[in-house]
Amino acid sequence: MIDFHCHLDLYPDPHAVARECVSRNLYVLSVTNTPSAWRGSANLAPAGSRIRTALGLHPQIAAQRKGELPLFRELLGGVRYVGEIGLDGTPEYGSSWADQVRVFSEILQMCADAGGRVLSIHSRGAASDVLAQLDGYRRAGTPVLHWFSGTQRELTRAIDMGCWFSVGPAMLAGAKGRALAARMPRDRVLPESDGPFARLDGRPAVPWDVDATLRSLGDIWVEPIDEVRERLLGNLRHLVE
Ligand code: MN
Repeated sequence: MIDFHCHLDLYPDPHAVARECVSRNLYVLSVTNTPSAWRGSANLAPAGSRIRTALGLHPQIAAQRKGELPLFRELLGGVRYVGEIGLDGTPEYGSSWADQVRVFSEILQMCADAGGRVLSIHSRGAASDVLAQLDGYRRAGTPVLHWFSGTQRELTRAIDMGCWFSVGPAMLAGAKGRALAARMPRDRVLPESDGPFARLDGRPAVPWDVDATLRSLGDIWVEPIDEVRERLLGNLRHLVE
């Protein structure tokens, strides 16, 4: 199956998680939080595996790591996926807002200049601002909004803009997340774990926790689980082809 947003490098034993992903034949988008973490994370993926490593600069540390933007530029030519990037509008990160916006818009400009990338995007408490930025950089690539938690109105705007969505067990456990997933275009949804940050049954989520997501989506969309699985695999093929 698929885990389209996972912090592989942040598990206590990332090599063991990578090995398990390989033995289960999982497609994994391994996102990173800083450009300086990219090479080490990419090295976790054995040759021939279906693990892809995205180049990122997480909004929650944009202020501290904005000095890594030149490294981001340097590495961008060699990657197809970018993430985790975006904006975090929760009060805790209010003091870094100006830096967040500058870093996010610079990255989107770089991606546009590079011909576009697949983008895994954080938008907690900032859905409207993220969408406004994306609207200004239409050539930056295909946005995949990870763990989207905006309003229904913001969801409509994201859908109209052509955004994709990656959804996980924690998001689909709540009524709000389920109501959002119900309205997402089914041909633009992918599963994610957001492990090890997201938790499931009191422990860090892992990429093979996807069954919980399949069950929830089957329930929300009123579709048999096998159909949901085939649909999501088809979506990934369509996104990356
Ligand atoms: Mn994440």
